[in-house]
Amino acid sequence: MMNYLLQNKKLAMRLGVGLIAIVVLSLIWTQVIRTPAYSVLVDGKEAFIVKEKEDVEKAVLSIQKQQIKMNQPKLELSSTIDYQRTFASREDLLSGKDLETAIQQTFDFNTVAAALVVDGKPVAYLETKAQAQELLDKLKEENTLIDEGEKLISVAFAEKVTVQEKSVGASQIMSLDEAYQLISIGTDKPQIYTVKEGDNLWLIARRHDMYVDEIMRANQLESEALQPGDELILVRSQPYINVVAQVEGEKVETIPFETKTEIDKNASGVRVKQDGRNGKKKVVYVATKVNGLLDEQEVKEETILQEAVDRILVKGNTVTVASRGGGGALDWPVYGQITKYYQRGHTGLDIAARSGTAIRAADSGTVTFTGWQGGYGNFIIINHGNGIITRYAHCSSISVSKGQQVARGQTIGGVGSTGRSTGPHLHFEVLSGGSFQNPLGYLR
Ligand SMILES: [Zn+2]
Repeated sequence: MMNYLLQNKKLAMRLGVGLIAIVVLSLIWTQVIRTPAYSVLVDGKEAFIVKEKEDVEKAVLSIQKQQIKMNQPKLELSSTIDYQRTFASREDLLSGKDLETAIQQTFDFNTVAAALVVDGKPVAYLETKAQAQELLDKLKEENTLIDEGEKLISVAFAEKVTVQEKSVGASQIMSLDEAYQLISIGTDKPQIYTVKEGDNLWLIARRHDMYVDEIMRANQLESEALQPGDELILVRSQPYINVVAQVEGEKVETIPFETKTEIDKNASGVRVKQDGRNGKKKVVYVATKVNGLLDEQEVKEETILQEAVDRILVKGNTVTVASRGGGGALDWPVYGQITKYYQRGHTGLDIAARSGTAIRAADSGTVTFTGWQGGYGNFIIINHGNGIITRYAHCSSISVSKGQQVARGQTIGGVGSTGRSTGPHLHFEVLSGGSFQNPLGYLR
């Protein structure tokens, strides 16, 4: 009996020791190694672990206060936050600045921003209405080009543009520069090209089916000089907002003389019976410019200052003009304002005219191409013999076909704005011996 009791006592003691050990170990485990904590779920996804729920609330308040101190718009938490009880080791618990950083990285905040709304659709968000207004003012200022002798009548946006307060994710707010780029180019992720040795704007433009003008505008280049290593934005501008300016101008234009040919059966070769002389006229016009480029022009008043004198050629029945002798042999395909001259990067002459205005063959010849040609749009090429070729771009219509013989002055198509063009004009090119020439050296 004694023996049995003694044995029972020993067993109880052992059990007691074991129990104490378990309690102590679990205390160590929970208090020292693992501690009760909360796993923070952001929109249902586990993000990080904190000791107390209040830690998160305090950190969010702190972030909001810092925003206000920096004069930034108030942030509103837009993520759904849930908490789940858990155990965690102390070094995994976030608090203080670390917790604030984690919250900024994982929580979504909404804030009241100034939305630029174009035709009913918000296209960019800025911090304040004042910034949005600054962007719109800058757009107008930089996209209104007034030439000499012109005065601005009005400037407006082609689209309906408003600035509205909207609640958006804080990460969607752009800086003024970012938003300006997006609005004026149409993308904030443009293709970047690094200039290589031997590159020039003309080559780069050709390779990317763009115009030199477009590259210069997208990059706000003032000269065509490039350095190897320069980075260029290669993107065709598709602005969200287009600036439409109306200007009134006055200028003196040349009236090109016409060349008339008389046939004399007894004559041999070609002789000049009367020299031609250009006239002059004063033109008062109203022009509409879109983003600084001529779109439409209406002549209000024309005063002849000096009449042009015809050039009269006399030639034999069977003889054709054999040599141009350095120019003076092409007729103007279209009469109108020269909106861009032949220059580095621009291989032709831009002559503005109303859409549909007849384009006339600059000389007699054979049509060697008609059809669509990339940036040139509807395109016509005429071979005049003697290595002289003329080319006509952006046509609205083509009224000749490949292989057709055309006479000087014959209508070959209509002025248009097809291909890479910002408004109706004829882009007229002259090639001699396969290389581009200044058309003005040939037009008389
Ligand atoms: Zn052109």
